[in-house]
Amino acid sequence: MPITWPYFGSMTYVSEILAREIGRKDIMCPKTPNKRTFEIGARHSPEFVCTPFKITLGTFIEMLDEGADEIVTGGCHSWCRFGYYWPVQKLILEDLGYDFKFIPLDYLKPSNFLKTLKDDVSVGCSLWQVLKAFRVAWIKGRFIDLIDELHYRYRAIELEKGISDKIALKSFRMVVDAENLREVRKLKKRIPELFENNVEVDKTANPLKIVICGELYVVFEQTLNLDIHRRLNDMGIIVKNSVTVSSYLDAGHKANPFITMHYEKARKAAKPYLENRCGGETLENIGDIILYKKKGWDGVVHLYPFSCMPEIITRSFIPQISRDHNIPVISFVLDEHTGETGFQTRIEAFVDLLERRKEKNLI
Ligand code: SF4
Repeated sequence: MPITWPYFGSMTYVSEILAREIGRKDIMCPKTPNKRTFEIGARHSPEFVCTPFKITLGTFIEMLDEGADEIVTGGCHSWCRFGYYWPVQKLILEDLGYDFKFIPLDYLKPSNFLKTLKDDVSVGCSLWQVLKAFRVAWIKGRFIDLIDELHYRYRAIELEKGISDKIALKSFRMVVDAENLREVRKLKKRIPELFENNVEVDKTANPLKIVICGELYVVFEQTLNLDIHRRLNDMGIIVKNSVTVSSYLDAGHKANPFITMHYEKARKAAKPYLENRCGGETLENIGDIILYKKKGWDGVVHLYPFSCMPEIITRSFIPQISRDHNIPVISFVLDEHTGETGFQTRIEAFVDLLERRKEKNLI
């Protein structure tokens, strides 16, 4: 019974870690989506559903065609359309004639989440073993985030093109393959050393720093975001994602009374503009624009998929926040029809603006 799940950028590794930890050997890691994935997903989806629905549906069809027959995906009573994803995708796939088991994980209710993992996904694990597996996944998830951060920093100023990509790939495998928590903890030192010792950087560079916020899926999925991290890195700009999936799932940090999670700080910073959650990452994104300005970042790129309701709300607040806090922000709405040339031109114009501001010390 090969098992698969949606592709989600580097977060795909966290799913693989969890699947392995609960004893699954029959893993089919989802392939990176491409144009064909977009096309298949869009062909079978409602026209105006948000783009991640179409891409994840395309991934499921591709993986079922390749032999998977269990799909695990997030599923909960969400604030936005995400709550409808799995029931509607299940109906569509059944209508298409696929015979498979769909397993939604309700990550908003920890007890349901763990019970489903135990009963429907694990290979005979007890609840205690599932909890231990989840702990390994959230701890390893911290290192996946660390690799992304180092990757997008070193690649901007590397002298040998492509070396940071290789080191990032090697580091991801090291995290996935680390056999016990003692090994994992050593990675805290080993991963930064790996980048430092292997990536020769331009020490004279004074790079711009851009933070990327927006709807989580589009921020992490390179095909949908047209590999914006690489485009900016290629222009010598350091980039960072403002939110990560594993930061939400990190129950260890969440339970620690001495740690305030980043998303909590962001939600607090957003309060003058928006008090309550309205789905997606709206509150966090509004707050992050303010927080990253205070941390000295030069600009913000805000990404959202076509017809994403929560991020349209963020988009409407951005001109005001940008004026109030003197930080340039550019928004991109993305879907399967986004043209690369126009996208690249807008990025270059935005970077020009940031460079001029830096020259004139307007930041
Ligand atoms: S946050 Fe936006 S794109 Fe993501 S599921 Fe919700 S409505 Fe769709």
